[in-house]
Amino acid sequence: MANTTRTLLVMALFATASSSARAAANDNAPAKIVLHVEDFALLLSPTISDAENEVRAVFRQAGVQVTWLNGNPSPRMISDSNLHVSVKILNRQMADRKSRTEGTSSDVLGQSAREACQVWIFYDRVTALTNPLPGGGGEILGRVIAHEVGHLLLPAQSHSDKGIMRGTFDLRPKVPPVFTAAQAATIRSMLSQRVRCLKEGVVVNRAPSL
Ligand SMILES: [Zn+2]
Repeated sequence: MANTTRTLLVMALFATASSSARAAANDNAPAKIVLHVEDFALLLSPTISDAENEVRAVFRQAGVQVTWLNGNPSPRMISDSNLHVSVKILNRQMADRKSRTEGTSSDVLGQSAREACQVWIFYDRVTALTNPLPGGGGEILGRVIAHEVGHLLLPAQSHSDKGIMRGTFDLRPKVPPVFTAAQAATIRSMLSQRVRCLKEGVVVNRAPSL
């Protein structure tokens, strides 16, 4: 742990020393996250585009610009200063296998791993919730993705009693729940430090629903 802390500190100092001029120039530039989405659930076009729009809307409220790309990132793509996140939308078989292997509850909708900058979505569980709702599947999927990406940038145990980081999912809001002002400030700060992933080990979210 001491080594990890020292490494992070050195990295932070290095980033400050080497990029101060660039940071000054970019102070007003929006923070950016690039999502690399692998759709193993073979979603139809309206669902996936609705999810993309919802994720972008949630993060836009936090002052963060999201780029949604399909497929796995190449090393060349992730060499820039943006945060690159791998999002895997799992089908039922993959989700069941992952849950069995890791012993997670069957009501978990998504998981995140900070060290890997990776998010997994259990899509069949999302559809089980959204089927009664007219046309809401893609939007709710987008909210689950936004929630899990939030875990990558916020401290551990970062659930709040309102907004997108609620630990239990609320299907009712017609407009997307967003990050609180404090959460949004933390996310922008993490992105401005060019932190790609926290080095605290893999964190598996075991919240009741998210
Ligand atoms: Zn959560």
